[in-house]
Amino acid sequence: MLIPARMSEAEEQRWVSVMLDKLAAQESKRVLGDTELAERAERLSAQYFQGRARPSSVRWVTNQNTRWGSCTPAEGSIRLSHRLQGMPEYVVDYVLLHELAHLLVPGHGPRFWRLLDAYPRTERARGYLEGVVAADRLPQVPGARER
Ligand SMILES: [Zn+2]
Repeated sequence: MLIPARMSEAEEQRWVSVMLDKLAAQESKRVLGDTELAERAERLSAQYFQGRARPSSVRWVTNQNTRWGSCTPAEGSIRLSHRLQGMPEYVVDYVLLHELAHLLVPGHGPRFWRLLDAYPRTERARGYLEGVVAADRLPQVPGARER
């Protein structure tokens, strides 16, 4: 097997941009469409709530920056923030389940959290989201975004 000679700076930059494009392509492939999101919600409802939560619509929204998800129980509609796109599946599932649970129980009382206890990664997902919020609040370190 040949060991590639040391790359020139131009080659290296080209290689980096190719790799970044590949990563971006993978990233965008992982984003679920609204239809898949609705199917996912249906599966989660069946698995954790005996199918009792039946949303009329589930979709991504881009105008929601302070909340991860929201729902209107009267309409049965659920909206998830596009900021969740690219986060681990278990986190997206948690937010979906959270909003599905609100179709059954309004507010965040003990009955609500008892529903979410069925999902084994509730605590981990909440920790992940808290970490994202905390990281957003950190002062930007100069140069931290350079490679
Ligand atoms: Zn809630």
